[in-house]
Amino acid sequence: MALRCPDCGVAALGIEESIELGSDDRSDEVALQIVECHACGAEYVAVYEESRRGALDDESVWHAAYPADTEALNEVRSIIASCRDPREADCGCRGHQRAREFVQDEDSPGVDWEQPKPIVFVRD
Ligand SMILES: [Zn+2]
Ligand SMILES: [Zn+2]
Repeated sequence: MALRCPDCGVAALGIEESIELGSDDRSDEVALQIVECHACGAEYVAVYEESRRGALDDESVWHAAYPADTEALNEVRSIIASCRDPREADCGCRGHQRAREFVQDEDSPGVDWEQPKPIVFVRD
């Protein structure tokens, strides 16, 4: 998988952590992630959303990185680490609840929700 770093532009962005949150009001699939660039070391909180509610071949994907301070990055890491099965969207644990709140509120301190940086998939 090659994702372009919104910081340095190199296709070296990796998804380090991810917790699947299932569907919400807007999307069919939502995930809260930590992404890290292996070229420049930039770290972001990222949100992945996929909606299949439009036309069949009109699958829309929103994948964006948000600048976050160390505290917020650590909070997301501990949220994801607290769940035994982050890939299980139906999980009702405290970590999953906190991850949903984190994504839905979009007012979590330490994250610059006003400055989304689109994450682009690069074909090699
Ligand atoms: Zn980079
Ligand atoms: Zn869980």
